[in-house]
Amino acid sequence: MPRFQQLRNDKSSSECSVDQLSGDQTLKDYHSKRNFKTTKEPEGGIEKKKGDGKIFVIQEHHARRLHYDFRLERDGVLKSWAVPKGIPESTNEKRLAVETEDHPIEYAKFEGNIPEGQYGAGTVTIWDKGTYETKVWDEKMIEFTLNGKRLRGRYVLVRLKRAGEKSWLMLKGKE
Ligand code: MN
Repeated sequence: MPRFQQLRNDKSSSECSVDQLSGDQTLKDYHSKRNFKTTKEPEGGIEKKKGDGKIFVIQEHHARRLHYDFRLERDGVLKSWAVPKGIPESTNEKRLAVETEDHPIEYAKFEGNIPEGQYGAGTVTIWDKGTYETKVWDEKMIEFTLNGKRLRGRYVLVRLKRAGEKSWLMLKGKE
């Protein structure tokens, strides 16, 4: 059922397109979880590029529980996972990565404090960022190479079917 959520004063009627509707759909969860009058996180919108993006970012997020938010640019948004135990840095580590809502691309620059009472309240700092290249991206597996300051090389995200649709395993690939 369609439901009115908010009036966008930042867009003119000429900027409202079917394209944009599908974009807002992608970021619907992101927008509905946050009050942009209170949090300094970017409101953002979908960017008009399709397919593989270029950037990745890992944000250290001291929320109720510390976790690392891993994000890959794709289809004009940042595909996102929360990795509670941090990104694996050797080939024998496997880390649970829980898929979270798509974030706008501007979020890759975000650092700061999310106020108390807001979704994800706590501090966010950029732990690493850079570019990436995709090798495989399908329903079950994403394989890519990171070119960051801390992290470099091949990584794999594998969907854990039995653990629920939002659970993935993150592994460091052999070079
Ligand atoms: Mn987070």
